[in-house]
Amino acid sequence: MSKEKVLSTIKDEGVEYVDIRFTDPRGKLQHVTVMAHMVDEDFLDEGFMFDGSSIAGWKSIEASDMKLMPDTESAYIDPFYAEKTMALHCSIVEPDTGEAYDRDPRGTAEKAEAYLKSSGIGDVAYFGPEAEFFLFDDVKYAVTPNKVAYEIDADGAAWNTDAEFEMGNLGHRPDYKGGYFPVNPSDDGQDIRSEMLSTMKRIGMNVDKHHHEVATTQHELGLIFDSLTKQGDNLQKYKYIIHNVALAYGRSATFMPKPIQGDNGSGMHVNMSIWKDGKPVFAGDKYADLSQEALYFIGGLLKHAKTLNAFTNPSTNSYKRLIPGFEAPVLRAYSARNRSGCVRIPWTESPKAKRVEARFPDPSANPYLAFSALLMAGLDGIKNKIDPGEAMDKNLYDLPPEELEGIPTVCGSLREALEALEADHDFLLAGDVFTKDQIAGYLELKWEEVYAFEHCPHPMEYKMYYSC
Ligand code: GLN
Ligand code: MG
Ligand code: MG
Ligand code: MG
Repeated sequence: MSKEKVLSTIKDEGVEYVDIRFTDPRGKLQHVTVMAHMVDEDFLDEGFMFDGSSIAGWKSIEASDMKLMPDTESAYIDPFYAEKTMALHCSIVEPDTGEAYDRDPRGTAEKAEAYLKSSGIGDVAYFGPEAEFFLFDDVKYAVTPNKVAYEIDADGAAWNTDAEFEMGNLGHRPDYKGGYFPVNPSDDGQDIRSEMLSTMKRIGMNVDKHHHEVATTQHELGLIFDSLTKQGDNLQKYKYIIHNVALAYGRSATFMPKPIQGDNGSGMHVNMSIWKDGKPVFAGDKYADLSQEALYFIGGLLKHAKTLNAFTNPSTNSYKRLIPGFEAPVLRAYSARNRSGCVRIPWTESPKAKRVEARFPDPSANPYLAFSALLMAGLDGIKNKIDPGEAMDKNLYDLPPEELEGIPTVCGSLREALEALEADHDFLLAGDVFTKDQIAGYLELKWEEVYAFEHCPHPMEYKMYYSC
């Protein structure tokens, strides 16, 4: 919405509250609510002061004043609140200088877009994320092929339980890897997914389809491509709506990448393309009808994949998904055909639809940081003419060990990804898109998660070692 439209909607539609939303470095949407009569032209131009000291990874208590700058283009009427409320996504600026706060992920996305323009490589980059998720009942049992049972509690946490229990008749449930995609009653998610998608459409999002995914009770909704910062906002709206519609149905949604051992995890494939002067930069006459720029872009993605993992796969759980056999990539290879490498070129006849699909990201990522980092790696590839090598048109899961030799992999743990980010991040600093201070703050947050995980005795350790 334009600024005028926001103000007239508040007046004409009897909006009572305006919800000011922003995203923290971990990717969590945060909010503060103001009465609508506070929101006038000045408010939208000047922003709103708040205390950022309690947000993990941001300012310390001595220097905690920050300003939220609403982006009226992101406005929507919140579909869940009882009182009529307009939501606005914001970037964060320093109150004294008006400059972007360098640890604000949304600000990073805006800077990445400006950097693309200044590079002369393109005017705009489009992102099409496919974020998968699971829906669990408040308490639900799941059984994996090796008959390990999990009880999923109200928070969506899965616990291995050896308890005997009655599973009931599973005749109408998707079989192991059988979710993609028989009709109901196998697929019991039709109504809930339709309600999610219609809710997105009603708040003005550009969406097109939904379907059951491969794993039991795993789903995906289709978001149409958009530019970087807007798509970051859209992904935050996507998650918000999925979580809240699920709640209304007495279920809980999780975007954690691998909630169930032995079944497919949730990826967030990211389709990308760059346009310049109204023309698609990635369409050409090289491999898979790509341009030389697109191949270099892939070269950058593959070269920096381990650093990218720190942003695109930022949870300890992410690395339980990146294993062979579940349509998630392990090897740093690209191909037009197979889905087992890090980068795929989806088939299309139309040069306008030519795009590169990064398959390693997952939906635990902060979308603003993940999309920005992917773009920066690809642009580094184009600037430095990074050769992606030959395409690998084979099923990479089936390669014999001698052929696997020398093919680099993605990271095997969050620890490894953080070490990669520490060692290789100059490409992120180009144009001051990311800053050293921001990366240091992000690393500090993420090392906390690594230590919390590594220091915690795991249910599997009890199973393996308790009676040693
Ligand atoms: N769930 C798979 C992943 O982890 C993707 C499956 C698909 O969309 N084909 O990436
Ligand atoms: Mg898909
Ligand atoms: Mg999918
Ligand atoms: Mg895909």
